[in-house]
Amino acid sequence: MTTFPLLPNATIGLVGGGQLGRMSALAAARLGYRCHILTREVDSPAAQVSHAVTISDYSEPASLRAFASAVDVVSFEFENVSAEGLDLLASMKPVRPAPSVLRISQDRIAEKSFLNGAGVATAPWAPVETLADLEAAARRLGLPAVLKTTRLGYDGKGQAMLRAPEDLAPAFERLSPKPLVLEGFVDFAREISVVIARGADGGLSAFDTVENRHSHHILDLTLAPARIMPPVDQAAQAIARRVAEALDLVGLLAVEMFVDPRGQVLVNEIAPRPHNSGHWTIDACPASQFELHIRSIAGLPLPPAVRHSDAVMKNLIGPEGMALWPKAVAQPGLIPHLYGKDAATPGRKMGHVTRLFPRGALPGDLGVADALRALE
Ligand code: AMP
Repeated sequence: MTTFPLLPNATIGLVGGGQLGRMSALAAARLGYRCHILTREVDSPAAQVSHAVTISDYSEPASLRAFASAVDVVSFEFENVSAEGLDLLASMKPVRPAPSVLRISQDRIAEKSFLNGAGVATAPWAPVETLADLEAAARRLGLPAVLKTTRLGYDGKGQAMLRAPEDLAPAFERLSPKPLVLEGFVDFAREISVVIARGADGGLSAFDTVENRHSHHILDLTLAPARIMPPVDQAAQAIARRVAEALDLVGLLAVEMFVDPRGQVLVNEIAPRPHNSGHWTIDACPASQFELHIRSIAGLPLPPAVRHSDAVMKNLIGPEGMALWPKAVAQPGLIPHLYGKDAATPGRKMGHVTRLFPRGALPGDLGVADALRALE
């Protein structure tokens, strides 16, 4: 029987072996916990820094049982575990966040229905099972619009921009699995996010709202804090709190949002786990998103998510990102992080660098570009 708070040397089971698991495991180690990773990969970023690993498919009942019996609590850095797998884990050990939260975030239709039901605005959307549904949805929402798979999409994979009526049929054919979801195109002024932790006692701890810049649909830069008007910031923070409470979350949650040209905040998607847009917190905050992830699932007190510095985080992506590594480690003032992945395939997140500024001194775009010039 697991009791909370977890005692020192307890074992946290993390599903998923990527960099989010790696950085959570490092935070867990600092708090005196061991991590046991469940992953398909033989040599994974998270297992490299953890106490134990089970290498298996995420839906193999025998391995899920062995994994659950070896740990005190289960959490995730990877959301796409089968519903049956989740139920099996939850029948054996506490799962935080709960399987019901994972189920919502796994499916864009469930996610948008949940958000709208909780009074949180999203882009207008419609479920699409057939080409006729898509044609009707495109008439209702107008073009341009974005067609997405409901499951298994990330970093812009599984989506298509529809600009003209002739784009509909080829995009419908290409995207799978069905069903799909059509979203109205948001001509956003900014993309922002909030990472928030919630404890089992309902206590909340939210990091400052940050601004995210994408390149080819993959996060390139995070600027902390976001340079937005106070009412937009307050709206973003209120949305993050509302979503965490409506989910009855125990754990960490990232809420990705668009700010439309009128300053309205719309949620794009939610992720009940540490998030790339929270990596800056490792270097700019006394307790990072990874520490708050571990604290919230372990039942430890949640400190306020304050930052001591402003920050810019830049991802090192694919072979181009790895080519920057010698400069990233050579330049004083850049804080380098590498994830231990061997193959730098295009689009793969290999590491990141953080540059700190005194609190309140985050420069404008030109200053940010200047601060990262050493990487060029
Ligand atoms: P997603 O996989 O939903 O996070 O989308 C990846 C990126 O595509 C987002 O960060 C946006 O830059 C862009 N995008 C997604 N949905 C929309 C939309 N409805 N309107 C405008 N841009 C979008």
